[in-house]
Amino acid sequence: METKDKELLRGGQFLVKETKCEDVFTPEDFSEEQKMMKEAVMEFNEREIIAHKARFEAKDYALTEEVMRKAGELGFLGVAVPEAYGGLDMGFVSTLLVCDYISSGTGSFSTAFGAHTGIGTMPITLYGTEEQKQKYVPKLATGEWFGAYCLTEPGAGSDANSGKTTATLSEDGKSYKINGQKMWISNAGFCRLMIVFARIENDKNITGFIVEYDKDNPNGITLGEEEHKLGIRASSTRQVFFNDTVVPVENMLAGRGEGFKIAMNALNVGRIKLAGACLDSQRRILTTAVQYANERKQFNTPIADFGAIKYKLAEMAASAYAGESATYRAAKNIEDRIALRVAAGNSHQEAELKGVEEYAIECSILKVAVSEDVQNCADEGIQIFGGMGFSEETPMEAAWRDARIARIYEGTNEINRMLSVGMLVKKAMKGHVDLLGPAQAVQEELMGIPSFDTPDYSELFAEEKEMVAKLKKVFLMVAGAAVQKFGPDLEEHQQLLIAASDILIEIYMAESAILRTEKNAKRFGEEAQAVQIAMAKLYLYNAVSIVEKNGKESIISFAEGDEQRMLLMGLKRFVKYTNYPDIVDLRIAIAEKVKAENKYCF
Ligand SMILES: Cc1cc2nc3c(=O)[nH]c(=O)nc-3n(C[C@H](O)[C@H](O)[C@H](O)COP(=O)(O)OP(=O)(O)OC[C@H]3O[C@@H](n4cnc5c(N)ncnc54)[C@H](O)[C@@H]3O)c2cc1C
Repeated sequence: METKDKELLRGGQFLVKETKCEDVFTPEDFSEEQKMMKEAVMEFNEREIIAHKARFEAKDYALTEEVMRKAGELGFLGVAVPEAYGGLDMGFVSTLLVCDYISSGTGSFSTAFGAHTGIGTMPITLYGTEEQKQKYVPKLATGEWFGAYCLTEPGAGSDANSGKTTATLSEDGKSYKINGQKMWISNAGFCRLMIVFARIENDKNITGFIVEYDKDNPNGITLGEEEHKLGIRASSTRQVFFNDTVVPVENMLAGRGEGFKIAMNALNVGRIKLAGACLDSQRRILTTAVQYANERKQFNTPIADFGAIKYKLAEMAASAYAGESATYRAAKNIEDRIALRVAAGNSHQEAELKGVEEYAIECSILKVAVSEDVQNCADEGIQIFGGMGFSEETPMEAAWRDARIARIYEGTNEINRMLSVGMLVKKAMKGHVDLLGPAQAVQEELMGIPSFDTPDYSELFAEEKEMVAKLKKVFLMVAGAAVQKFGPDLEEHQQLLIAASDILIEIYMAESAILRTEKNAKRFGEEAQAVQIAMAKLYLYNAVSIVEKNGKESIISFAEGDEQRMLLMGLKRFVKYTNYPDIVDLRIAIAEKVKAENKYCF
């Protein structure tokens, strides 16, 4: 189905516009080609990664490199790369799909894969000149060369534009000399190419360079020892030192001072891919946990039959389901936006750049939500395993350690939380998303008398969709009042920004789960989707609690007297169900299904 421009929501518009379930893409919409790709990737994951799990945990860096090379031979490293540069050009959804199903064996491989295909390759496909792309991308797409991304420095982490690495133009104007120190560089130990960010003279912004790294001819590049890390133990992470490293001028990426923009846009792609990379880990953790819970008996009862364990299984399933729903929804939006731009005459490169940039808010939301869900899931996985969960002999402790990094790299979750709201406010100011009109409408609604009519909730999700609409009002009410109060100084009030972003995140995730399920219930029948319906309802119920908590804390912090009372009354109205779902029953229904299937089965 061809998507028209006006039908496709812009990034962030989900907050102020209603999305019809027919307009969201779901994992149930995978094409035959995508299903085949999924099977192939899952088989690769089992054979090449999971079968050698112990070696990854024993820091076998060479194995990571070897498996990366095999992934390259099978085309998995070039899914997103245009055919003209040796890739498969399979579109953004397929890119996410490969990233999803290849990443659950070990975080060591998924980090290497993500760093190479995302931030190691994308800066060239998105910003490279034709010559740069011809020269480097085919090597990267096939795994002949591996890429690394050198942004972080000892003094420049979250404040990425503050790096001290310098690039100095030679007297003949033909090359730059790079000097400086980078740290935490994934793939450093086996890469052949580095995307390096350095400052020219006293430029405000850093500049990106493509730097070749040949161990036999190191050109002033030396590596630190492998870092010994909590998790992702066989992912190569080293410091990289540049000492008069000569880089020809034609290896500058985009223009001088464009590096910060490149770094940020590469990270947008990296963020949604990281969310994708956490999905199958979550499925796998749940599957491993339920298999154990079905087998392990205490008090003559399989522990899966205990309500306390059912609670965990249900929550784990619902969060994995919401994560899938939201990630593939956003991935398809990006794919459609790219297609629209190509149809409008943009080059593939420009279309892709703008397509991903458009959904930067969703990319940040997903990065935060899914990285935290996989961590919680692994934590509960350990708990279900009891003492055995704490042992290296079972897979839970590695899953937990590996999950931990996802909250730190690709921009910490604090930075991404603040970015998501900051970008939304900026979009509103530029007129790309009309927040003002809907925010004023909410204010007027607060002044008016609430309707006491009993709505008709007979249709599936009628009340849930109304609840989502009300949660959006909470965001508009709280964020609108905060913007009025603090204006541009809002960015100084980080606790408020973080609370607002938590509200935003919950809205997107809950809405995505509901829309996916509604779409599937229409085509497969409500009975067939009974458990998915339960998961969507459970996720929403939890989301409402989170929204209420964050809304309340925010209102109390910045409003006083009558204003505070009015806002708190509005909040109460917007988080109130007419018919509260029986959450305990929903959890039981979900857990029973997972138990019966002995796996994550959605
Ligand atoms: C295993 C691993 C692999 C990595 N791979 C790469 C790679 O391949 N390439 C690369 O360039 N980098 C890489 N990184 C670096 C990673 O992106 C950074 O660690 C991350 O961006 C955070 O920077 P930092 O560690 O300096 O923490 P800091 O920036 O010092 O942050 C410390 C804490 O302060 C918070 N904080 C910082 N600034 C603010 C602020 N303005 N407001 C509120 N809170 C704030 C952070 O959220 C965090 O909680 C990797 C890191 C690790 C651990």
